[in-house]
Amino acid sequence: MPVYDTVIIGSGLGGLECAYILAKEGQRVCVLEKNRQLGGTLQIFSRDKVIFDTGIHYIGGLDKGQNLNQFFTYFNLMDKLRLKRMDENGFDRISFEDDPQDYPHAMGYEPFKESLRRLFPAEKEGLEKYCSELQATCKAFPMYNLYPNKDNEIDFKYLKVNTKDFIADCVKDPKLQQILAGSNPLYAGCPDKTPLYVHALVCNTYIESAWKCIDGGAQIARILCKNIKDLGGEIFNYSEVTGFTYTNKKIKTAILKNGEQVEGKNFISNIHPARTVEMIEEGYIRKLYRKRIQRLENSISVFTLHIVFKEKTFPYLNYNYYHYTKQDVWNSIYYKEENWPEGYALFVPYSSKCPEGYADSMNIMAYMRYEEVKQWENTFHTIPKNRSDRGQSYLDFKEEKSQKLLSLLEKKFPNIRSKIKSYYSSTPLSFRDYIGTSDGSLYGITKDWRNPMQTFISPRTKISNLFLTGQNLNMHGVLGVTVGSVVTCGQFVGAEYLIDKIRTAT
Ligand SMILES: Cc1cc2nc3c(=O)[nH]c(=O)nc-3n(C[C@H](O)[C@H](O)[C@H](O)COP(=O)(O)OP(=O)(O)OC[C@H]3O[C@@H](n4cnc5c(N)ncnc54)[C@H](O)[C@@H]3O)c2cc1C
Repeated sequence: MPVYDTVIIGSGLGGLECAYILAKEGQRVCVLEKNRQLGGTLQIFSRDKVIFDTGIHYIGGLDKGQNLNQFFTYFNLMDKLRLKRMDENGFDRISFEDDPQDYPHAMGYEPFKESLRRLFPAEKEGLEKYCSELQATCKAFPMYNLYPNKDNEIDFKYLKVNTKDFIADCVKDPKLQQILAGSNPLYAGCPDKTPLYVHALVCNTYIESAWKCIDGGAQIARILCKNIKDLGGEIFNYSEVTGFTYTNKKIKTAILKNGEQVEGKNFISNIHPARTVEMIEEGYIRKLYRKRIQRLENSISVFTLHIVFKEKTFPYLNYNYYHYTKQDVWNSIYYKEENWPEGYALFVPYSSKCPEGYADSMNIMAYMRYEEVKQWENTFHTIPKNRSDRGQSYLDFKEEKSQKLLSLLEKKFPNIRSKIKSYYSSTPLSFRDYIGTSDGSLYGITKDWRNPMQTFISPRTKISNLFLTGQNLNMHGVLGVTVGSVVTCGQFVGAEYLIDKIRTAT
């Protein structure tokens, strides 16, 4: 095997983007992925000939001139992606069990304000304040706006604001406060922790423009992989990294599960930082660093119900629903087991094979703590090689949860059961096994406004040739991870140089 300039561990979005950037800069790169399918959370699966996304339901900022459009143009993705623009009058709709009204999040700041002003006329000023502060917060993040900033430095004042308090400070109406925070499963929002910048960066990207990937988000990984290979990069699946060998306090090779070794000058880990430090032998990083990384709290996981509809029975919805059983969007994350689910996020994929106007499937996500599935944690299941049977009790658990979710869904969509051909479900264990985290966490390390620097992970580690990338770094989500890959590769080629290249690609 050759000595690579950079060996990348994990083929999630961040890993693939780093491979592309460095290959484009003339490096000899390789990506090592443990699973058969590449892309990490971009993976799809199919049931009854219908495609389901596992972790990308919609993306934002893809209109010409917007930030993700510029990044994706640089990655040679923009012209090749098959996208469906979502409903401009409400790409997200917030709803509550005791209220027949759906509350829209409209596309564009003016329509966003106007549609909510119509429902809450007394909150004109509050909505102005909310939107202008949201935009000001996003502006404070140079990399998100493609401004050169060597160290991705951010004004501290933007990190130390609590989202829930900020919203309450902008608008007085308790319902409107709930609606503005209604898409909080997008960032697993916690009332006492979530910093405003997390809420702002996520919501802003969709308010700018919201898109679904036609036939699933795996196309992002597929196109990126082809682009990497066209630049001479190599990608190996079924290549799980289990440890490292060292020379002069640096990593020399990554050791694979089958015993093979892959040598590199530099290494980038796209896997969870806690998992990364687990693989490092004692003596190569300080105990304090190891402990700090391993003690960081992860965001919650989810239970997901994947429904296949009978042909031409359910209409295609060009928007998502965030539904709550109570008027309390912040606390469904702290649900009581007996009240589960206290809400759900509902996504209807756009399938090119489906007759116009109809949907062939639906994904419904509800928060679920890892403890609920802990009793089966000694099983491991990824297809096609690890088909551990989690047993009948696990199947019963999944069926019970599916029925509860269906009963709640039925209240919003009467007769939905009669339209269902089949349904499948996944739990925190599915995410744990496919992504390689310890607890199936949705978005990795939880950000906390009370101690922002503690939850900010640097791309540099205590080993000089080992770097980190992926959703645990800056931010999760397609945009957050993309910015993170630029921050990581900026360590190699210079952030200002890279930002300049991205800006000039459009
Ligand atoms: C349910 C869900 C819904 C989401 N919806 C959206 C959405 O609608 N829009 C949006 O923008 N974002 C969404 N996200 C977030 C987004 O998908 C993620 O933030 C992003 O894809 C994570 O990318 P990553 O680079 O961190 O890699 P990951 O996706 O975490 O991938 C890591 C990769 O590393 C591999 N790996 C792990 N261990 C090893 C090892 N030892 N050796 C080799 N390989 C290894 C894994 O198999 C995996 O392929 C969602 C996430 C989830 C979970």
